[in-house]
Amino acid sequence: MKGFFSLLLVFGAATLAAQGSAGSQFVSAIDDELLVRAFATLANDSMQGRRMASPGSIKARAYITAELTRIGVEPLVPGFVATFPGRILESTPTGVSFPFGTINFGTIPSGVGYAWRGVTGSNILGVVRGTEHPDRYIVVSAHYDHIGLFDGQLHPGANDNASGTAALLAIADLLTAAKPKNSIILAFMDGEEYGMLGASAFTRSPPVPIKSILANVNIDMISRSADDILYFVGEKYQPRLSALATTVGGSGIVRIQQGLDGRDSKEDLFRRSDQWAFHQRSIPAVLFTAEELLDYHRPSDIAAKLNIGFYVRAMSAISDFIRRMDESIESFVPVKR
Ligand SMILES: [Zn+2]
Repeated sequence: MKGFFSLLLVFGAATLAAQGSAGSQFVSAIDDELLVRAFATLANDSMQGRRMASPGSIKARAYITAELTRIGVEPLVPGFVATFPGRILESTPTGVSFPFGTINFGTIPSGVGYAWRGVTGSNILGVVRGTEHPDRYIVVSAHYDHIGLFDGQLHPGANDNASGTAALLAIADLLTAAKPKNSIILAFMDGEEYGMLGASAFTRSPPVPIKSILANVNIDMISRSADDILYFVGEKYQPRLSALATTVGGSGIVRIQQGLDGRDSKEDLFRRSDQWAFHQRSIPAVLFTAEELLDYHRPSDIAAKLNIGFYVRAMSAISDFIRRMDESIESFVPVKR
């Protein structure tokens, strides 16, 4: 808990009003205390970086399911947890540093000192039932796992992806307070770091009929941005959702920019997080992220680097996007009648 209390001291009790006047009607609706508390808790050393199937992961799971229960989210599967066969990469004592970024591309390292080990992964799945179309689903996802203890060092994964996980809890809180039209599945994915294993398991054996899943909105790494930009990734595939993101950005909550989908000079992040698994099953899918790769998969991705103003504005823009999407879903993605 040490980390948590020092975080509160550092950031103060949400001096958010001073940090952004535009779009404040959205900001004020958000439980920013819940957001920051969940972020700090999940990024705390006691969670050991939430590596799949580790004691830290079990602890994170207990925390997330307890929060979902408290918020009033219904389990989509018994006990919220859907398990799947997964695998993790372990280093031997003589191992050398390995660039983890390539694992998401599906490259299996052949270097000496590393080995894959089979483990059981656990997705956490809740649902807020829609008032008009309870049998239609929008999946909002964030991976809660990270690489944890690796090469003898703790990788807490604060931005990647305690930030998206806590945002998903805060979004759940907003959705239970004002129910959506369509059912919204809150999917806390496991095993993203080892090749989007949780999202692949979800789309391979979906907990609801695959045809009833209208879209996926994925959230990964949104707690800070060097250039104060929230990226909408997926314009290449989802132009109408991209236009909606432009509308949301235009309301002044946060600057939203399209990119990182392989068409600009930057990295193609569309294939590198869980939305890719949905896209491969022909489900319209997009990613919200902030381009902040300095500490990517390094022990230095710590909670103290949080930019609370950006984080709250980013999360509020994403929740606004989800709300508008839900309200007239037919305008944005194909809906079977
Ligand atoms: Zn991530």
